[in-house]
Amino acid sequence: MSNIDQNLQKIKASLPEGVTLVAISKTKPVSTIMEAYQAGHRVFGENKIQEMVAKWEEMPKDVKWHMVGHVQTNKVKYMAPFVNLVHAVDSFKLLKEINKQAAKHDRVIRCLLQVKIAEEESKFGMGAQEAETLLQSDTLKELTHVSIEGLMGMATFTNDQEQLSKEFGFLKSTFDQLQALHPSLCIISMGMSGDYLLAVEHGSTMVRVGSSIFGERNYS
Ligand SMILES: *Cc1c(COP(=O)(O)O)cnc(C)c1O
Repeated sequence: MSNIDQNLQKIKASLPEGVTLVAISKTKPVSTIMEAYQAGHRVFGENKIQEMVAKWEEMPKDVKWHMVGHVQTNKVKYMAPFVNLVHAVDSFKLLKEINKQAAKHDRVIRCLLQVKIAEEESKFGMGAQEAETLLQSDTLKELTHVSIEGLMGMATFTNDQEQLSKEFGFLKSTFDQLQALHPSLCIISMGMSGDYLLAVEHGSTMVRVGSSIFGERNYS
């Protein structure tokens, strides 16, 4: 068994049934990602559209590609033919563009709304109220080529368990409120290498784990 295989088995064994593991493969070459593929893993996440497109072209077509990073509207068209789930939808404008590009490919693209949960100043994500307004709006009903399936959150970059618990708890309670209005919501995407078990304790149904599977990233 390769290290990557072992890491995957270990993480999967620690997750309750029903929690999806998204292997975050950003910056890693196809040869490395293929080790996880050979071990049977199929769900991979990237944070840059061009990089995801290049890997999609090279890799077997049964991979489910998740876009977990911030999405620029003008790049949606490149991922529209194949993307399986867009985690970080943070505006109506972006959602409309995803809908438009999905229509061209006769697809329905699954999306999550990114809710701002971190206390630290971060640029992306909507407030809980904004997410509710979007979900309740009549315009959304006209967007028949997107399907909003849940929420995604990025916690503060910290080891402070109390802080993380607060932020994960906030996303879970926001989700519960919105799900009461929209029973089709079913995904809570939260938790990364350092905190995915804590996220699961707080109700995460989808964890995004990179370095604990593939090793540290080298951005140079
Ligand atoms: C890189 C990244 C992850 C994974 O981070 P690790 O700490 O390596 O597990 C998760 N989510 C998003 C949005 C990321 O960009």
